[in-house]
Amino acid sequence: MIHLISSPARSCLGTAILRKQLSRRGSTFSRTSLRSDAVASMPLAEDKPHTHTLLILGKPGGGKGTISGKILADFPSFQLMSTGDELRQHVRNQTAIGVEAMKYMDEGSLVPDNVMIKLVINDAMEAIKTGRSLLLDGFPRTLEQAKVLDQNLNVDLVVNLSIPNETIVGRISDRWIHPASGRVYSYSYKPPKVKGLDDETGELLVQREDDKPESALRRLQMYEDATAPLVNYYEEKGVCQTFRGTMSDVIYPEVKAWLDDQLAEDKVGAYAS
Ligand code: AMP
Repeated sequence: MIHLISSPARSCLGTAILRKQLSRRGSTFSRTSLRSDAVASMPLAEDKPHTHTLLILGKPGGGKGTISGKILADFPSFQLMSTGDELRQHVRNQTAIGVEAMKYMDEGSLVPDNVMIKLVINDAMEAIKTGRSLLLDGFPRTLEQAKVLDQNLNVDLVVNLSIPNETIVGRISDRWIHPASGRVYSYSYKPPKVKGLDDETGELLVQREDDKPESALRRLQMYEDATAPLVNYYEEKGVCQTFRGTMSDVIYPEVKAWLDDQLAEDKVGAYAS
């Protein structure tokens, strides 16, 4: 879990460090995102860490978490930032952010951009300091968030998961969680050993408020209105690849092949843990 920095002074300092680090890595970033033949044939800067920012886009309940887990297992230099997981941790800890975010999350609407931007940019800065690549799950979700992210980080790889709505609705109602730990079960894909109970503690599983049917439908509509335009946004930048299907196990090998190809030019940086 990435910890937040809430002090404004530290936040400003952090942004300054982030900008400095990014400008130092400027040639590497532009090389991976431009992808023209001329640029691709340039020699790599020696011994520099090659970091990437990979974004996973897709409808809520569309398997982003599953695909992210598989990516992290195969590409351990990536560090995950999942805004949904972070917000749920804040809710569990009843932090100020958690209390503010909970009302939006429970009704299936988006947490305001200003809250999210502060949360993520600070975290991204912390992660970047470790020299690792970032895998963003759940952020950006609006054009406003994407534009602010662009001012701070270069998103050079976008995996867009295109899953039919019927599949999503079935999957969402199938998902149950253990609230204390955040462990997630699915009755179709990853059932608990005993129906309704957490494998490790034996405590009751519950359905996330935002997985209840009304909320789930609202989240799908929200995705269409606020987040789907990001697909065009990143396609126009030439960094987005769409993967269609209904089963993560079938989609993932295609995602992996694409990432292998995209990262082939700097395998050491991409695969080393
Ligand atoms: P997720 O687990 O990614 O589906 O996120 C759960 C909930 O957290 C969403 O339904 C939103 O209420 C909130 N959330 C997560 N990421 C964002 C974001 N980037 N912008 C606004 N709200 C977010």
